[in-house]
Amino acid sequence: MDYINTTKKVLIIEDEAAIADLLAYALHREGISVDIAYNGASGLNTSKQFIFDLILLDLMLPDMRGFDICKELSNEAQVPIIILTAKSDIVDKVVGFELGAFDYITKPFDVREVIARVKAFLRRADQEVENKVYTSFIKVTPNLSVYINERKVMKNGAAIDLTPKEYDLLVFLLENRGTVFTREKLLDAVWGYDYIGDSRTVDIHIVRLRKKLNDSASPSIIDTIFGVGYKMVK
Ligand code: CA
Repeated sequence: MDYINTTKKVLIIEDEAAIADLLAYALHREGISVDIAYNGASGLNTSKQFIFDLILLDLMLPDMRGFDICKELSNEAQVPIIILTAKSDIVDKVVGFELGAFDYITKPFDVREVIARVKAFLRRADQEVENKVYTSFIKVTPNLSVYINERKVMKNGAAIDLTPKEYDLLVFLLENRGTVFTREKLLDAVWGYDYIGDSRTVDIHIVRLRKKLNDSASPSIIDTIFGVGYKMVK
C-alpha cells in the first residue's frame, strides 16, 4: 500500500504572511508538501491546478469573503478544509460545516496544535482509504491505476499531478471505456451544462492527460475518433 504514504499536499490560504510562513515551515518539517496563497483569488486558482489532501483557510481575507471561498473550494476541488478564524469573529460553525469545512481552529493558535490536528486528519483520511481500497481502484494499464477515494493517479508507483478537471475527465472516460464521446458531450459531463467554454477546452485537457499518463513506448490510452471526439481504449 505504498501509495497511501505518498507525500501529502496542503494548501494554506492566509493573507498574514507571518502566520502562513510559520505554518508552512512547521508542516514542511513533518514531511508535508505545502503551497501558500496570500489571497482568496490565488488560493482558488491554485486549488484548481493541483490536487490537495487538505486546505487550511483563513476566513478573513482581503479580497474575498471566507465563506464564499469555502463554498467554491468544496464545490470545485472537493477538498477537505480546516478553517482558521479569529476568536473575535462571530462565526456560524454550522454554516461553515455546510459549506464543506471539516474543522475549525481559533486564532491565536499554538502551531503545534494545528500540526497535530492536520496530521490526525491526514491519518484518518488514509485509514478510510485503506478500508475502501478494494472497491475504489481502477486499473487502467498494468502500470497505471486510479484510486477513486483519494482522487489519486499512480503511474509506475509514483503519484501523477492532475488538475481536478483532468482527473474528472479521466475518470468519466474510464467509467465509460470503449464509448465514443463528442467534445460537447464531454463538456456537459465533466464541466457541466452551464459551463461557458468551447470544445477546445476538451482538446487541451486531452492533450495534457495524454502527456501526463502515457508511456512513450505504448500507444495512447485515449483514442481520437476523427471528426467525432474521443474514447478510452478498452
Ligand atoms: Ca486574515
